[in-house]
Amino acid sequence: MLRQYELVDLVKSYDPNADEDALNRAYVFAMKKHGAQLRTSGDPYYSHPVEVAGILTKFKLDCTSIIAGLLHDTVEDTDTSIEEIRSLFGDQVAQIVDGLTKLAMIEQKSANNKQAENFRKLLLAMSEDIRVLLIKLADRLHNMRTLHYCAPEKRARIAKETLDIYAPLAERIGMQEVKTELEEIAFKELHKEAYESIQARLNFLREQGSNLVPKIINQLQKDMEENGIKATVSGREKSPYSIWRKMQQKNASFEQLSDIMAFRIIVDDVASCYQALGVVHSKYHMVPRRFKDYISTPKPNGYKSIHTGVIGPENTRIEIQIRTQEMHEVAEKGVAAHWAYKQGEKVVGKNFRWIRELLEILDQASNPEEFLENTKLEMYNDQVFCFTPKGDLIGLPINSTPVDFAYAVHSSVGDTCVGAKINGEIRPLRTVLQNGDQVEILTSKAQHPSTEWDRFVVTGKAKAAIRRYVRAHKRDQFITLGQQLLERTFKGENLDFNEKSLVNVLPNFEAESIDDIYAKVGEGLVTAWDVMKAVYPAYKQSKLGKVVKSFKMPGFGKTPRKDRSKAEPLKIKGLIPGMAVHFAGCCHPLPGDRIVGIVTTGKGVAIHTIDCRLLEKFADEPERWLDISWGDAADDTPHIGRLKVMLANEPGALGELSNLVARSNGNISNLNIVNRTVSYFELLVDVEVKDLKHLTDIIAALKASKVVSYVSRSNQ
Ligand code: MN
Repeated sequence: MLRQYELVDLVKSYDPNADEDALNRAYVFAMKKHGAQLRTSGDPYYSHPVEVAGILTKFKLDCTSIIAGLLHDTVEDTDTSIEEIRSLFGDQVAQIVDGLTKLAMIEQKSANNKQAENFRKLLLAMSEDIRVLLIKLADRLHNMRTLHYCAPEKRARIAKETLDIYAPLAERIGMQEVKTELEEIAFKELHKEAYESIQARLNFLREQGSNLVPKIINQLQKDMEENGIKATVSGREKSPYSIWRKMQQKNASFEQLSDIMAFRIIVDDVASCYQALGVVHSKYHMVPRRFKDYISTPKPNGYKSIHTGVIGPENTRIEIQIRTQEMHEVAEKGVAAHWAYKQGEKVVGKNFRWIRELLEILDQASNPEEFLENTKLEMYNDQVFCFTPKGDLIGLPINSTPVDFAYAVHSSVGDTCVGAKINGEIRPLRTVLQNGDQVEILTSKAQHPSTEWDRFVVTGKAKAAIRRYVRAHKRDQFITLGQQLLERTFKGENLDFNEKSLVNVLPNFEAESIDDIYAKVGEGLVTAWDVMKAVYPAYKQSKLGKVVKSFKMPGFGKTPRKDRSKAEPLKIKGLIPGMAVHFAGCCHPLPGDRIVGIVTTGKGVAIHTIDCRLLEKFADEPERWLDISWGDAADDTPHIGRLKVMLANEPGALGELSNLVARSNGNISNLNIVNRTVSYFELLVDVEVKDLKHLTDIIAALKASKVVSYVSRSNQ
């Protein structure tokens, strides 16, 4: 075990300004607090935090990290409080130890190894300060190194967890050395026979080859020198775990795997990497498909290197990696390498996206402590991970609520959720979930999705489910309303109403069922009159001017009236999506008019012109007013403009009127004689027009006519 002064010397060797006093106090504090506790190895417990601190000095981490490493188990395993640590060692150390304590608790909650990926993300998301993660990895590394002291049944679980979670994590932040060591120990534990047979085979080859590795190193070194490349060559046998993995991937036996030796050529700069590659490839036979250039295309974790496979010196198949010293440091130590380099005022490689971000802060921060203090791990900060009561992990977008969680578990859970327990306490459904929360959803068969939920859920799944339910539910209401409307309209005209007759006209309304027709009528997409006319084509509407029908006028009924309510809401800005909309019959708004929306009771939004006299009625109810305007999109949907016309009572006057409208591309859709004297007709004329300008043009055309004595837009 590292002695107190040895640890201090180690830290001071790379950080001469380290707070020696604080290091000493932390060492003694950990020793006292863990007191007589023993590890399963029989060592005093405090040897563990001391060794963890020792590993951290290998990463050349700052003094704060070393102190936090010494204290990392005190809050979890002894009576120490975070406050105590804060008062003795300051905010930063306290925060890191707090983070580590939370991670330890999270670890205990997770029961399901199948969810390793989510668990890794959770660990990353919870390690807001990257030092938390580095200390966690050092902690795990030491626990793995002493794994053989644990009870066998515990060992397998820890080894598997290490392979599933911690080795990939180490790789994710680029710490190759730690990753390899974790894997080797875990492999030895989980696949003892495979490990031993590979090891035996390696030993055999070593004896057979009478130490091939040094021979090949020498040859490669000479090759480089002869070509004027300054290089350091190293070589090793591959680790049993990487050999085993390759055997599995390629489904090959150990005998078939010939390249069990790997060599590394480290050069000064990128140009030399490619020069060295040229030398290797010109001198030795290249093995097809083994060449990879991770310098031009780095791995996602920032790894850079050139890999190639050749039949090398001594006629042996080998793998060669070529990289610069910087690339090598980053490959082995990952994020910690950047840290070490900053200490030497030498900032390297802008590799990982988040390291790049760290480095940007680093460049701006005046000292390393400030850098680490301001650094939050960028990864997965757009997600939260929460546990089910069984210990399964559910990943959700940030700001998710128990309703999102419920829908993520299963739609049926979401649809019926009435409440939630978060970490054992009943909390409102709108509560924003935090990383590591354990969420239990309370359900009731009587519950339905609520439109209220739509205001706070964030996941698409929850939103879609709520809207689907509301839509279906609204449809039910529309069906009931539509049926009532139809019955009333038919009865009002003394016509027989039965569903059989409706079946015949389904195609007229693009309906697939009678309910479809009801729903369309209820929603206002089709009028009850339209349906009635379809069922009784011969029936003449009693109220429409029969006078008009008897004229065959060119401007009348030229085109069938289009279904207005279906298309028009799209062209108006400021409406509430999904809300029914209609144009007020009082003022007949046209595109070009200034308009306002009034929320009616039961019939959605009515659109009025801003000068409509009816608006006075709503003056005292500002909450019903909607600020709306016409959209920009051009469209061909006709709008109804209403004209008040005074027409000379003479033969052909009505014909002349309709001709004028037709020539202006208008279409008379309705016509009512409201007054008739000896010399004049007074008419209300509804004209289908494109917009306000179109109507104004028609008014101008009518004004020019001899038979028209007066014309204006009507808002009655
Ligand atoms: Mn520990």
